[in-house]
Amino acid sequence: MNNFDFIIIGGSFAGMTAALSLSNVSYDLKIAIVEKQDILSADRKRDGRAYAISAASLQLFHEIGIYDELQAEAGEISDIKITDYKSPFFLDFIGYQVDPKNGQLGQIIENYHIHNALRNQILRRKNITVFSPNSYEKIEFEENVLVKLDDERIINSKLLLACDGRFSKLRELYQIRATQKKYHQTAIVFNISHEKPHKNIAHEKFLPGGPLAILPLKDPHQSSIVWIASDKTSQVALSLDEENFTHQLWKKTEDVLGEVKVVSEKFSYPLNLVESEKFFYKKMLLIGDAAAGVHPIAGQGFNLAISGIKILCELVKNNLFCGLDISSQGLIDAYNKKAKSEAKKMLIATDILNSLFETRSFSIALARDLGLGLVNKLPSLKKFFIKSAGGF
Ligand SMILES: Cc1cc2nc3c(=O)[nH]c(=O)nc-3n(C[C@H](O)[C@H](O)[C@H](O)COP(=O)(O)OP(=O)(O)OC[C@H]3O[C@@H](n4cnc5c(N)ncnc54)[C@H](O)[C@@H]3O)c2cc1C
Repeated sequence: MNNFDFIIIGGSFAGMTAALSLSNVSYDLKIAIVEKQDILSADRKRDGRAYAISAASLQLFHEIGIYDELQAEAGEISDIKITDYKSPFFLDFIGYQVDPKNGQLGQIIENYHIHNALRNQILRRKNITVFSPNSYEKIEFEENVLVKLDDERIINSKLLLACDGRFSKLRELYQIRATQKKYHQTAIVFNISHEKPHKNIAHEKFLPGGPLAILPLKDPHQSSIVWIASDKTSQVALSLDEENFTHQLWKKTEDVLGEVKVVSEKFSYPLNLVESEKFFYKKMLLIGDAAAGVHPIAGQGFNLAISGIKILCELVKNNLFCGLDISSQGLIDAYNKKAKSEAKKMLIATDILNSLFETRSFSIALARDLGLGLVNKLPSLKKFFIKSAGGF
């Protein structure tokens, strides 16, 4: 089969989620995924990152059929505590205040489990074809989009979805301008075991050297750590011997979990922001990190990709219902407008959050702390923040 409705370049988190969601819109839609890594014969390996998956994204996991498979690995978040170093003010989001039935604000899942669950579900769908390991050699935009693969096969589709990540070559190839900003910060990510149980509480600790997130895993005595520091400090931290590293980490945890021990390999990610000026070129749409890559301070990158995918699916559904072409200019324009506006909000929020807590200015620190205390005391304002974090 060479004719598809959608060809997706990049079969990772955004690409595979888009394929499954579109496949749900109609089993008549034919979808191709082109992924340069071999996702068919090998499972994805741990890369240190555990994703905070919002309640709205979990709803989509249900719909595309990966929720149940992931429950053996998912840590629930029933409470998020945000603290600012020695400040007496804190912010506490409690799951039962938002979702009295399940009492959870979201889940923490190591991302390789999500990747493998997406791949397993894709293999069950008859209307999704995977070309992997494959890349594209040439793309032509005519009435349809023609894609020549690196093994000479030619496939075509009505729409092309660029899901090729933060440093998207497709974005570059079609000269879509993108704002890029280096944060000069690095995230060090790994798992720890700890003496006290985590009680499903996620901690975001804003400390002088940078924020530390402690994310509860399925095992009550294990958490995933995101330790963000300047590039220089993180280099120094990574060069410490195990005992020293663990001691520095324990100090940062402010002893909320008792004794801690690093139980996985450590991975590091330099942090940057990417915002594409527009989310399309002819009949190609940018999805996921290719469209907008945010600071991981609030754990929202993949959640944002999912919100864009939901927007696209809704538009495709409407076009099919009205008998319109799924690659109509109206659909492309509407996707560009809606997905861009969602991304803009998240890019601004995460960027401001990072600079607010990075500041050394006394007056900003005071305002920030008073803000934390104020939000915590005002139920309606707090609810607004919880809803935003939940992705609704
Ligand atoms: C430290 C850290 C922590 C994070 N924590 C969270 C979190 O808690 N919650 C959350 O929601 N998000 C989180 N994120 C963000 C999340 O990692 C990204 O948003 C997500 O991985 C984006 O997925 P993607 O599919 O768009 O891109 P990628 O995962 O980068 O995938 C791009 C894919 O395209 C393929 N590709 C590229 N070029 C080609 C080509 N020419 N041909 C074929 N295939 C190609 C690549 O091989 C790859 O598989 C975090 C990020 C970091 C750095």
